[in-house]
Amino acid sequence: MAGCVQVYTGDGKGKTTAATGLAVRAAGAGKRVFIGQFIKSEDSHEMAALRERFPEIAIEQFGAGGFIVDKPSPEDIEMARKGIDSLRAALTSGEYGVVIADEANGALGVGVIALDDVLGLLEVRSPDVELVITGRNAPAELIEQADLVTEMVKVKHGFDAGIPAREGIEY
Ligand code: ATP
Ligand code: MG
Repeated sequence: MAGCVQVYTGDGKGKTTAATGLAVRAAGAGKRVFIGQFIKSEDSHEMAALRERFPEIAIEQFGAGGFIVDKPSPEDIEMARKGIDSLRAALTSGEYGVVIADEANGALGVGVIALDDVLGLLEVRSPDVELVITGRNAPAELIEQADLVTEMVKVKHGFDAGIPAREGIEY
């Protein structure tokens, strides 16, 4: 079965939760899933749940820890490089039916990877693998080449009204 390239972007909440929902659906159908998360170095609760309960889903994180404020450190860049390499391997190994590059757009935004790194994932993808790329500010070239693009639009977010991030809901 032919796979597609999906992009979840926009400034509204739900990009990573949509991608993890897809991972659960794919696992339920017996597919193996690889989730590579850029920038992050700690499991949010959905990743912990997937790790514990879904042997079909492999998760790796490619953040060096800490917040990239101004200029990324060499360590930030090295971790992101590892992320691109691991995703390329997952996309070509024949092992996975679904590969998720979570926050690849964010990694591009902070300058730890380049546009060619992201477009390179589309290039190496085996045709039967579904590739999902998330993160706000998806570049035009990616949107152009993707088969499915969903933009999460922020109509309201509790954060703006002072509601803090809640455990199990936001992270
Ligand atoms: P989620 O992981 O909840 O699906 P997301 O992947 O769409 O969110 P990210 O851009 O990855 O959003 O940001 C992650 C965190 O930032 C989440 O805790 C999310 O609730 C929060 N967030 C998302 N959009 C906004 C927003 N417009 N304003 C404030 N916080 C936001
Ligand atoms: Mg996210």
